[in-house]
Amino acid sequence: MRLTIVGGGLAGCEAAWQAAERGIGVDLYEMRPEQTTGAHRTGNLAELVCSNSLGSNLPNRASGLLKEELRRLGSLLIACGDASSLPAGGALAVDRDAFSSCVQGKIENHSNIRLIRKEITNIPEAPAVFASGPLTSPKLLKALQGFSGEKQLFFYDAIAPIVHFDSINMDVAYRANRYDLSDSQDGDYINCPLNREEYQRFREALLSSKRIPLKNFEVEIESGVDAGSAQYFQGCQPVEIIAALGEKTLAFGPMRPAGLTNPRTGRWPYAVVQLRQDNLAADLYNMVGFQTNLLFGEQERVFRLIPGLENASFERYGQMHRNAYITSPSLLVESLAFKQKPGLFAAGQLSGIEGYAGNIASGLVVGINAARFIWGLAPLKLPTTTMTGALLHYISHAETKDFQPIKAMFGLLPKPEDDQHRSKKDRYSFYSQRALADLDQYLMSVEGF
Ligand SMILES: Cc1cc2nc3c(=O)[nH]c(=O)nc-3n(C[C@H](O)[C@H](O)[C@H](O)COP(=O)(O)OP(=O)(O)OC[C@H]3O[C@@H](n4cnc5c(N)ncnc54)[C@H](O)[C@@H]3O)c2cc1C
Repeated sequence: MRLTIVGGGLAGCEAAWQAAERGIGVDLYEMRPEQTTGAHRTGNLAELVCSNSLGSNLPNRASGLLKEELRRLGSLLIACGDASSLPAGGALAVDRDAFSSCVQGKIENHSNIRLIRKEITNIPEAPAVFASGPLTSPKLLKALQGFSGEKQLFFYDAIAPIVHFDSINMDVAYRANRYDLSDSQDGDYINCPLNREEYQRFREALLSSKRIPLKNFEVEIESGVDAGSAQYFQGCQPVEIIAALGEKTLAFGPMRPAGLTNPRTGRWPYAVVQLRQDNLAADLYNMVGFQTNLLFGEQERVFRLIPGLENASFERYGQMHRNAYITSPSLLVESLAFKQKPGLFAAGQLSGIEGYAGNIASGLVVGINAARFIWGLAPLKLPTTTMTGALLHYISHAETKDFQPIKAMFGLLPKPEDDQHRSKKDRYSFYSQRALADLDQYLMSVEGF
């Protein structure tokens, strides 16, 4: 019996690898490059659509813990991330092309995986995994809508611009890591400092700039949803929407200067725009937290008001996209199989997990569970004290009202009895140590892992 996987993104590739490594024949369907999503730019498997950072690598951070669990669970994609990492302080940032090539090479050369470049437009026969992501093609989204009985399966999300390094004015911008977390003398991030007047001028320009109308989206047209009532995802709001929330919201959000001492003044600036290396050649930098939906010409005009970016040239402009997901708590059980059809699974952003590392985690567990389903074994049930287990538990048990994709966070883990007596640092170290010990113990007890 072969396993069908729809989508060669982060979750789909990890799921395919895990099932194939367990001896299951996998048909992995990827619609690119013939069909595009609007945000992906290549036909590569596991393409990172926006940021090149997989989040923190520090063991006492939620995302760092998740990655350490994934290493212990044998994740292909985290191994490829480690192999293609770039300097980024305490974060795991990768060269996006090297990362994709690593994943694609492993998938194409696996004797149990057949990679098929084709769009899936209907609900496939079980066993199958939906890992078609936040930009699931409109035809499949419609089929999923019919299958799940859900009316609206998407909200709005945005991606940040990428700037050419040689167009950044390094006489103004400076290198530094926040609170100098890395050993690097120079700092991995480029920081563009703004004083109070420059910040206010920038914010006003941002607020009065022209935006791309949302009503062009294919799915919106098909489903007849009103663009004016567009629902943004809280974790990835466009910078112009954040700016409108309050005069200082940007300065306390993506433009937070804390810990970024400017060597020319010896002080933190009033606000900062950070840029993070985007490729191994170090000639591209992306604007951290600067997701936007401004017209491309407006992005040039407004972002060039940022000191250090006066002559910025853009490799890619920011854009806004729909972001599809199902209401997992009402549709999925903890193994991420559909309640109404065991043997059909969802993984990745579509299953309600946000963030690259979380999407990889769900793909990993679903790949293993699909293999176990075929063998007639019970699915994995990771302890909820682990970040992976807690994420899967949350998306299958949360309140269905206003459900939104969730990313790794310590708040998902059960608190110990003496929690209130611990400092934040102490608490996070405790959570991490407990998670890894529980994971190791659990894995020793699982039949056929
Ligand atoms: C615009 C945007 C920006 C984002 N930025 C970030 C970020 O900076 N950091 C972060 O952590 N997360 C980000 N996310 C959220 C999410 O982590 C990523 O989108 C991640 O790639 C999702 O992984 P996935 O495997 O679920 O989907 P994807 O990686 O998108 O993979 C899905 C694959 O399925 C294919 N596909 C779709 N429909 C079909 C079909 N019918 N038949 C066959 N193939 C199909 C697609 O071409 C794609 O390759 C962003 C999401 C969006 C939409």
